[in-house]
Parts: sequence; structure tokens; C-alpha cells
Amino acid sequence: MFPNAFKYEAPTSVDEAIRLMDEYGYDGKVLAGGQSLLPMMKLRVAAPAVIIDINKLDELKGWSKVNGKLRIGAVTRQAELEHATELREQFPLLSRTARWVADPLVRNLGTVVGSLVHADPASDWGTAMLALNAVVEARGPKGERLIPIDEFLVDTFTTALDENELAVALHLPIPTKPVAARYMKLKRKAGDFAIAGLAVQVAVDNDGRVSEAGIGICNCGPIPLRAVKAEEALIGERLTAKTIENVSKLVPEEAEPVDDLRGSADYKKDLLRVFAARALREIAEELHGKVEVQ
Ligand SMILES: Cc1cc2nc3c(=O)[nH]c(=O)nc-3n(C[C@H](O)[C@H](O)[C@H](O)COP(=O)(O)OP(=O)(O)OC[C@H]3O[C@@H](n4cnc5c(N)ncnc54)[C@H](O)[C@@H]3O)c2cc1C
Repeated sequence: MFPNAFKYEAPTSVDEAIRLMDEYGYDGKVLAGGQSLLPMMKLRVAAPAVIIDINKLDELKGWSKVNGKLRIGAVTRQAELEHATELREQFPLLSRTARWVADPLVRNLGTVVGSLVHADPASDWGTAMLALNAVVEARGPKGERLIPIDEFLVDTFTTALDENELAVALHLPIPTKPVAARYMKLKRKAGDFAIAGLAVQVAVDNDGRVSEAGIGICNCGPIPLRAVKAEEALIGERLTAKTIENVSKLVPEEAEPVDDLRGSADYKKDLLRVFAARALREIAEELHGKVEVQ
């Protein structure tokens, strides 16, 4: 189906984009990669009067390291992060997540920030960004603010952004210790959204004890969820078989899946337990080459 008619704006600066967003309010919609917005417009679930295309804004492209953070601009494509070999050591979860998202065509256009703003409960990126403790940099007529990902994702298709605020970048803390990460996902067919998924990142001290842990749960609640109890149970522990077993049992406790055509709630919870155990075992093996983890 064709979308409704709309006016097209292509600002050449962030200030101009914000001015347009402020002027059009709820009638305007930002266009990043268009991989969620355009299907919604074609289905007429969304019918914005004005499209504000941010793809010409050079200051939203690419990434840089500033003040201990990796700052990823809002129109950086998912595929760019997937193929950025220079980011793999410190941010392994970026490429590990990307390869599970849709297909190369979608990843070539879709942005990570666009996925976060779309706020689908099945967003693999929302899930990974919880594990990475991302912070969203937003700019609006009142200035700039930094929104931690846990506050940014409010509800299904709802974020903490005001209608006249542009998400300009993502900030990821640069790890100072050895890290390893895994993204695990079960889907019905290639390119599909998750039945359930899990993002895990762990950093360890030189003695092999976990110093930081991030665990995100995909498509098992109204938004991607954080497995807080499991994260807390990892801190200060070595990745022994016993710890992994205990922690993997905690992960599903914080999931809120529902029975649907993709599987029962119990099945999805068990998937999360299995994913957590598998991810932590692989992480322990990988980190073993860097520090004494067991
Ligand atoms: C066939 C297909 C399969 C897919 N499979 C998966 C999958 O397996 N896993 C997964 O996680 N995702 C999947 N997706 C979604 C995909 O990752 C989208 O690219 C992503 O959700 C949206 O990013 P985008 O840059 O295309 O945003 P757009 O579609 O351009 O925008 C999405 C929404 O965010 C708003 N927006 C975008 N950027 C900004 C900004 N900087 N500031 C303020 N508002 C903004 C837009 O106005 C719009 O409301 C799939 C999509 C398709 C088409």
C-alpha cells in the first residue's frame, strides 16, 4: 500500500531539524533509516503530515571516542557498526548483535538510534544497549540532555523523548577491563524478530572476578528488560560452573513473556535460562585466554 501524502523537509543542520520538529510537533516525523517508519506508513499505522529527513546531517554520522565514551551519531547505520573491526575488542556486542538483526538490506539503512526511538519490545538493539549501559544524547529547543537507556525506554513504542527532541547520539562507556559479550536469539525464520533473545556483556578484574555485568532480555515484556538480579549476582564472582548455573536461573525471573503463536511463556523463560548459561560459558572460555576466570 502507498503511504498518505506528506511534506518532505531535509534540514542541513541539527538546529534546523529541531526547529522543524518544534514547528510541526506531532504532525512531523523524523526519518533516519526508514526501516520501521516507512513500513508503518505503508501500512498506514503512521500517517505523518511532514517527514523531517535527518540523513544530510554530517554531525550525526559515524563515531568518536570522547571523555571515556564511544559516541555514536544518530544516522550511523547498523551495518557500519557490524563491520567496524576497530570496535570489536572493546565493544564486541555491537557486531555480535548486528548480525542477528533482520538482513543486510535492513542493516545497511537502519540505524541503532532509530531502533531505540521506535522502541519495539523485540528490538535487538534496545536489548544490547541495556547490557552496554548506553546513554542517549537528546537535543531540543530547551537544550541538551542525557537519558540513560533504562529511562529512555518507557513503554511499547514510547520513549522519554519529547516530540520536539532529536536523539543526536548514543554514548557507550569505554571498558577499562577485559570484556566479552554474546547475543543469543531464537527466531522462526531468517531475518525475523526474536521469539526471545538475550544480550550479555561481562568485564572482569585481573583476578578473574566479574567487575561489571550487563544483561538485556529481548521480546519478553513491553520493552527490552534488564535482568537486574542476575547482573547483581555476577558482580564479584568468578565465572565458575556453579555461578553460571545460579545466574542463569535468575535471568527468567525478571522476564514477562506472554503465551503467543511463537511459544508459551514458560518456553520463552526456559529459552532465556539456556541462553544465559550458554552465553556465560562461552564468555568464561573467551576470557580465560585473557585472565584466570575459574
Ligand atoms: C524486514 C525487517 C526486519 C527487521 N528485523 C529486525 C530484527 O530482527 N531485530 C530488530 O531489532 N529490528 C528489526 N527491524 C527493525 C530495524 O532494525 C529498523 O531499522 C529500526 O527499528 C529503525 O531504525 P531506522 O533508522 O530505520 O529508523 P526509522 O524507521 O527511520 O525511524 C523509526 C522511528 O524513530 C524515529 N526516529 C528515528 N531516528 C530518530 C532520531 N534520531 N531522533 C528522534 N526520532 C527518531 C522516527 O521518527 C520513527 O518514529 C526490522 C525491520 C525490517 C524492515
